[in-house]
Amino acid sequence: MSLSSSVWAQYNPLSLGIVIPEQDTVEYPFSRYRVAAHTDPNAQAFINGKQVQVYSSGAFVDMVFPTEQITPIEFMVVLDGDTVKQTRYLVKPSASQPASSELVDLGSKEPTKKWFIEPNADPLNPDQWYGPGDVIPILAQATPGKQLSYSIPGQHTHVVMNERSPGVYESYHKVGPYDPMFEGNIEFSLKGRWFKRSKVTSLETVKMGGLPKTGVVNTSNAYLNIGLGSDRLGGAKYGSIYEGVELTIVGEQSGLYKVALSPSLHAWIPTSFVDVKESFELPAQSLSGNIRIAASKENSDLQGSDVITVSLPKRLPYTVHTELDPNRIIVDIFGATSNTNWKILLDEATGIDEVRWRQVEDGRLRLYIDLTHKRHWGYDVEYGWRGQMRIIVKHPPVIEDAQKPLKNRIIAVDAGHGGRNNGALGSTGVMEKEVALAISKKLEELLVEAGAKVVMTRTDDSYLYMSERAEIIRTNKAELLVSIHANSIGYATDPREMKGTGSFYKHMAYKPLAEIMYNKMRELGLDDYGLTGSFNFSLNAPTDFPNVLVETAFLSNPEEEIFLLDPYYQRRMAQQIVEGLEEYYTQYAHWPIEDLEADK
Ligand SMILES: [Zn+2]
Repeated sequence: MSLSSSVWAQYNPLSLGIVIPEQDTVEYPFSRYRVAAHTDPNAQAFINGKQVQVYSSGAFVDMVFPTEQITPIEFMVVLDGDTVKQTRYLVKPSASQPASSELVDLGSKEPTKKWFIEPNADPLNPDQWYGPGDVIPILAQATPGKQLSYSIPGQHTHVVMNERSPGVYESYHKVGPYDPMFEGNIEFSLKGRWFKRSKVTSLETVKMGGLPKTGVVNTSNAYLNIGLGSDRLGGAKYGSIYEGVELTIVGEQSGLYKVALSPSLHAWIPTSFVDVKESFELPAQSLSGNIRIAASKENSDLQGSDVITVSLPKRLPYTVHTELDPNRIIVDIFGATSNTNWKILLDEATGIDEVRWRQVEDGRLRLYIDLTHKRHWGYDVEYGWRGQMRIIVKHPPVIEDAQKPLKNRIIAVDAGHGGRNNGALGSTGVMEKEVALAISKKLEELLVEAGAKVVMTRTDDSYLYMSERAEIIRTNKAELLVSIHANSIGYATDPREMKGTGSFYKHMAYKPLAEIMYNKMRELGLDDYGLTGSFNFSLNAPTDFPNVLVETAFLSNPEEEIFLLDPYYQRRMAQQIVEGLEEYYTQYAHWPIEDLEADK
């Protein structure tokens, strides 16, 4: 080694930064694991002795395949005779211990492993409330070849369970309409020969009976989930539900009330969103009064709207969905039976072509709202005085300058993550929140150049709740939202294999916006990750303005990370998004009034 290079090394030691695994020792149960690190771009990198490519950013990645209880991952980088090594470890988690319950052996002085009962903790998880017609699955493991029975408190019968496979016992209890209400534990009894009998009580309590109950939505942030399932973004949702809506509660599980919408349809709602009334009120079976369709008196000069008013005797639950071509909003009102034989469509309600209704089943009245404009520009369902349902349908904004379609348009740009929420990590250690902000700021700059008024949800590294972001967008009366993120894979996928750009929407109404963004981003030569609908991202949930989530590229992919880090490509991405918005407004917003006149 020459003197100069050793002096260089002394002041600029060869760097090795490990991004994944994040800690020295990581518990990991699966057989494929991605590692990511970075060094000097001119260095050679080795992972467990195998040389891997070092990208121009300095990033290097690979897959390891843990087979041992403890798998070492040795990172080594070499440059000019300098070598830096670091080792990290993957540890397989030890097999989870089944929750053991206290064994009460009434017959034998010395309980042995041969003589046991283990009530299955799932699905007997806490806070379950079963109503008439519900089926409670009852599962337990116990000594094979014996007779296991269960009993429900308040019911003095012991029901013999079926031994499905050796030692695995099952049964089902169907809640009857007149079962007494109870709250307690299920008891299991194991019977062998006459002198041996064991009894075990389930650890979790179950509630049964006393349903249905009436509940009232107590917050403006409430929503209805479709089922009990959930992923990292929460359960799939029907959508938001207005404060004061009355719900019929027919069960409870995992912190959610089960509510009956119609005889054949249920929804789930977090228990904290509902106040339960002492007494049950019979479901409404309400008659709706007339339907009135008028231009909104609350028109802002920027963007008008129409309002469809439906008179209901109280705040009934509803679900809404949208369709394209023909552009339509479909509102199902539950507990309502049509008694409507007339409607008023005012001429100035220019955004509404027609409103029709149909009784699709008992207690489910469906409204079809056909729009006149080329695309959806937002709608909202709310209750006015008592049971006055108001469906507010926004008009497209009016373009002021055909040469500059974004002139004076109010557009929200949301830089994903921020503050303590870093988002995904690139192999160089760059965080998604930094990349998202850099692209968002360039987007802001280019939108301002294009004449738009830009609403930024954040302009620095601050942490914002999703509700705060939505509030910023609404209070600044943004017409449309673009949310900027960078994608990432999980730990079990090769980061070199997954790449590309993607756009995400939830409501069909806003698919055309996501589609334009997706096509614009692909013009940069990025791979297709795809156009994703029904996506459960919380800023895709609003219905009152068109919105799109742009997952620009994969930060976990070392090639795309180079693009995402490069200010030139960040600007190119922002430029494409601006072009996409110009295209969207040009196609779907209203033209200046003289152009409309010319069309006639
Ligand atoms: Zn993100």
